[in-house]
Amino acid sequence: MGRIVLDKVKKSFGEVTVIPPLDLEINDGEFVVFVGPSGCGKSTLLRLIAGLEDVSDGVIQIDGKDATDVPPAKRGLAMVFQSYALYPHMTVRKNIAFPLRMAGLDQAEQNKRVEQAAAVLNLTDYLERRPGQLSGGQRQRVAIGRAIVREPAAFLFDEPLSNLDAALRVGMRLEISELHKRLKTTMIYVTHDQVEAMTMADKIVVLQAGVIEQVGSPLELYSRPRNTFVAGFIGSPK
Ligand code: ADP
Ligand code: MG
Repeated sequence: MGRIVLDKVKKSFGEVTVIPPLDLEINDGEFVVFVGPSGCGKSTLLRLIAGLEDVSDGVIQIDGKDATDVPPAKRGLAMVFQSYALYPHMTVRKNIAFPLRMAGLDQAEQNKRVEQAAAVLNLTDYLERRPGQLSGGQRQRVAIGRAIVREPAAFLFDEPLSNLDAALRVGMRLEISELHKRLKTTMIYVTHDQVEAMTMADKIVVLQAGVIEQVGSPLELYSRPRNTFVAGFIGSPK
């Protein structure tokens, strides 16, 4: 579960091609980071995988099945948004349970999954609070909790830490890495921050203007950058 393959996936908005045909394989359980400058197509690529945008051409496979035309809610993926998108009037428990309530799970199963997620995220003592009574980092964890309870094949993160201050960002970075170790679920993480990419990724995908410049482990990109763009971006000499 959690293997995602893009085969000649292309995206245009009107006349403008943002992503020329692109191939990419993401393996089960991998922590993959899409990195590149602002406007290079990171969010668009993630949204194509999530199904929030339709591909202009090409095929997206999830766990061996053609998911190209499958609606987002049926892809078995969970997107964690940059803004927390929590419901302010609901408790943490209700916020985390929300997707399960929508899916019609019974109350006992909802409670079980919410409490498991809360334990993983150190939110057990905060379940009856409302988002306004939480810190930024705790709110981010609630948003992640809402993704965890759906038991997705992969988590998709779009710059999830960019609203947090620097100190909190370092803490959350470690927490997300730790979460990946515990859950062993595929994670795709978008950032323009080279340090986040180098410290979190199993595999980094370097994008420039919708084109993959290089795919490799942090060490590979650092020691053998394919071109000056990658070298400059990752910060090693070439
Ligand atoms: P990134 O996330 O790397 O900053 P995006 O994927 O948001 O980049 O955007 C890539 C390019 O696609 C940008 O030039 C952006 O203006 C364009 N773009 C993104 N979404 C749309 C849209 N809905 N309509 C038209 N152009 C878009
Ligand atoms: Mg973006």
